[in-house]
Amino acid sequence: MKLNSFLDMHTHTRYPGKSFVKELDIEKAAKNGGYSEILAMPNSVKIIDSIEALMEAREVDKKLDIKIHRTGSLTKGLQGKEPIDYREFIAQGVFAFTDDGLSLVDDNLAELIFKTIKNEDGAVFQHCEKNCHTSPGDIAPPNDGELLTPIHSSEETEILQRDLHLVAKYGTRYHAQHLSTKESVNLIRDAKLNNLPVTAEVTPHHILINNKNIDTSNGKYKMYPPIRTSSDQVALIEGLKDGTIDVISTDHAPHTIESKQANFKEAARGVVGLESAFPMLYSSEMFELNELVMYLDINPRKILSELGYNLNNSNSFEWKSCNKKFYTNSNPKNSLFEGMETLLETSGVYV
Ligand SMILES: [Zn+2]
Repeated sequence: MKLNSFLDMHTHTRYPGKSFVKELDIEKAAKNGGYSEILAMPNSVKIIDSIEALMEAREVDKKLDIKIHRTGSLTKGLQGKEPIDYREFIAQGVFAFTDDGLSLVDDNLAELIFKTIKNEDGAVFQHCEKNCHTSPGDIAPPNDGELLTPIHSSEETEILQRDLHLVAKYGTRYHAQHLSTKESVNLIRDAKLNNLPVTAEVTPHHILINNKNIDTSNGKYKMYPPIRTSSDQVALIEGLKDGTIDVISTDHAPHTIESKQANFKEAARGVVGLESAFPMLYSSEMFELNELVMYLDINPRKILSELGYNLNNSNSFEWKSCNKKFYTNSNPKNSLFEGMETLLETSGVYV
């Protein structure tokens, strides 16, 4: 089966700046998963909050055989204190701004930024996490036990609710990143009913697992937002099916195996996801193929091109039926899905 290549709206490349990830690993992970384009988050080793850092990233991007679109940070150094110069980024073809990994929390600054970005014709992409700058948590209740800090649903929904109020006030284009709660799905559904300019995404891991059987001694389950209850999982799936959530994005986040094998409290947040997304979603049999094409290809392309990004023509990948276990072929291998059954595989080469 030949499919158009996918576009991931949420990848961490780690470069520019010196990191343990090889630049080519991003290309390999993307192509092994059927992706030819990605939107890179700005929280690289060198944060993309200046044109200089953007240019340094692009020097590497252009060496790779996938197309990489860039975002700028919302605030300098992702510190949540001072805006960056959005206008100069937009002049360079960067239209989306996010402090992803962290949230824009300060209400007064948020007001100023939503207003400014609306005037400049850009978009706010938000990672919603109320306590990220003060007391970041570890895991969703009820798995927190005595040693871990709970991340309540309200950490996400309070920021989302505040943001949607600003969207209604200023008309700012807004994209909610990696939703995890049923309340968030309801908030976005209402915002769309009110014709607000909002879109939303969810990750494959929030769709495919819930926190019923999470092993809290295993740091591989640590990510933000945390994996939540089965009723959140069901609401996220329904949100996709009824068009409330537009895209499935991977939040591909390379971490060393050592940093994931640490105890849960110390473990790094995040999992890789480019290679596993489509095979795992397809094999779950939760969605029709045309639905997955909508979430991984059609809707992400529509969103980015409407924002102003200059997209490549799609490449194609050949997917073959198989019945084997999935193992990550690129590096690193901090995947949640190692050893799970898969029904499809691709050779990672454009056809
Ligand atoms: Zn994030």
